[in-house]
Amino acid sequence: MAKKVKRAVVTGGAGFIGSHLCDALLADGLEVTCLDNFATGRAANIESARANPRFSLIEADVTDPLDVEADMIFHLASPASPLDYYAMPVETLLANSLGTMNCLDAAAKLGVRMLMASTSEVYGDPEVSPQDEDYYGHVNPIGPRSCYDEGKRFGEALCKACERKYETEVVIVRIFNTYGSRMRKDDGRVIPNFVRQALDGEPLTIYGDGNQTRSFCHVSDMVTGLKGAMTTSDVAGEVINLGNPNEMRVIDLAARIREKTQTDSGVVFEPLPQDDPLQRKPDITKAMKLLGWAPRVGLDDGLDDVVAWFTEGRG
Ligand code: NAD
Ligand code: UDP
Repeated sequence: MAKKVKRAVVTGGAGFIGSHLCDALLADGLEVTCLDNFATGRAANIESARANPRFSLIEADVTDPLDVEADMIFHLASPASPLDYYAMPVETLLANSLGTMNCLDAAAKLGVRMLMASTSEVYGDPEVSPQDEDYYGHVNPIGPRSCYDEGKRFGEALCKACERKYETEVVIVRIFNTYGSRMRKDDGRVIPNFVRQALDGEPLTIYGDGNQTRSFCHVSDMVTGLKGAMTTSDVAGEVINLGNPNEMRVIDLAARIREKTQTDSGVVFEPLPQDDPLQRKPDITKAMKLLGWAPRVGLDDGLDDVVAWFTEGRG
């Protein structure tokens, strides 16, 4: 008897990470349903996926109840760039609260695993570094970033509550800064901003003194980690950091991008946004142990991908 092809639902599948995940799942032979309201995603991101007969699109808001068939549900639908969630604070809270509840309800009804795309932002402006999964975080509950941070923290709490009360199978993945092709020119996050500015001959805008740190993971590594977290059988109930521990200062990132693009652009210093975390570096010991996962793409190769993306005028 022919084996039934598995179906994955990806909420936020027309976004940056979600569309790469859809492509990877299609390449693995799965059927993929992308659910998206295009709040920050783009039709162009799923153009190639749409040519595949195993792909389908549901244009809907995840805050409405989900009517889907699935063997697994990836919940990525949420604005993710600070610029986007500053502009859509209420929508962000609802996508991660009501939207997460709808995904959990669908997963419970179907008896399948739900993966919650959480974030390193649950650690806020961390007092410890690197951050492992046992750290409770240092978050301002009412600041401008709270719609995102607390939305994700609520989403995580909801996952654990449904696991305890209804035995819903959940995996929570805390994604650290991820970059790559398909980021929008106007996304506002640091790598697309700096690369676009360098290519357009504009000064690179460094917020604060540039001594704050981030650790950047290429999207291809992130997608491998997300698939691993979904398909590894004994990680149900786990919370797992995914990211690249290669920590660097924002000012050094600017220098790397200026060098790579051979731009004449200088830098300008602008005010650091309120509650902008001063350091961020994932401890990925757990992901390495449980998933056998580690990032492979270095910053140089990863930046080449973004530079090519914007040079081709596709950002
Ligand atoms: P993105 O903005 O490119 O993608 C988000 C997608 O969700 C978009 O296609 C958007 O249209 C869709 N969406 C938003 N609200 C929705 C709603 N109510 N209903 C249906 N669709 C909705 O962002 P991304 O960088 O691809 O992030 C994807 C996920 O990963 C998010 O949950 C984000 O919080 C998480 N994450 C990303 C990063 C990162 O560095 N990229 C870091 C941490 C966590
Ligand atoms: N940043 C910057 N210039 C920019 C965009 C961002 O200096 O043009 C800084 C930002 O203040 C933060 C870091 O780069 O300290 C990463 O910002 P991003 O928005 O990419 O991600 P997040 O703050 O969510 O980690």
